[in-house]
Amino acid sequence: MKGYFKLEDNYIENEVIDFNKKRYVFTFNIASIAIAFAIFFIFRVQSCPIFTVSSIIFIIAGYFFLVIIHELIHALFIWIFSRKKAHFKFSLIYASAGASDRYFDRSSYIVIALAPVIIISLFLSILINYSSPDLYNGILLVLALNISSAIGDFYISFITATKEKGTLVRDEGEIMHFYTKTT
Ligand SMILES: [Zn+2]
Repeated sequence: MKGYFKLEDNYIENEVIDFNKKRYVFTFNIASIAIAFAIFFIFRVQSCPIFTVSSIIFIIAGYFFLVIIHELIHALFIWIFSRKKAHFKFSLIYASAGASDRYFDRSSYIVIALAPVIIISLFLSILINYSSPDLYNGILLVLALNISSAIGDFYISFITATKEKGTLVRDEGEIMHFYTKTT
């Protein structure tokens, strides 16, 4: 599947979004915590315990694996669309997978951005149906964190969707570049 293109001479850089900027780090972290709490408190089952030994282990291990699997799914879709190995960055507050020399069209890029949160949410939604009461709220918390921590992916997909037809996206991990045709 080909989702990347050569940047022709008639393209110019239209916008750069740098997720390292303090305003993104600050607003996304606050919003992400708020979203995770909201989802958790709306959907939790009060008769099920939150903190059992098994659920605490599940929450810590689940969240750790979630971050890695999330980035691997981005990388898988980067590879599917561009046959390019993604490069990864992991820090305490941020993880990313990018392909800095590939120019993706809008729809391919939105698939790359949203695939992890959709696939992991589906998987956890199925898992929660088969869970024991001990684990239910733990799985729910991991599901909530999975959705809330994808706030950057939702944001970048929204921005990509609002760009004009023919826009190309280059993803350096924490910095996205948008290119549009001049003529
Ligand atoms: Zn992501």
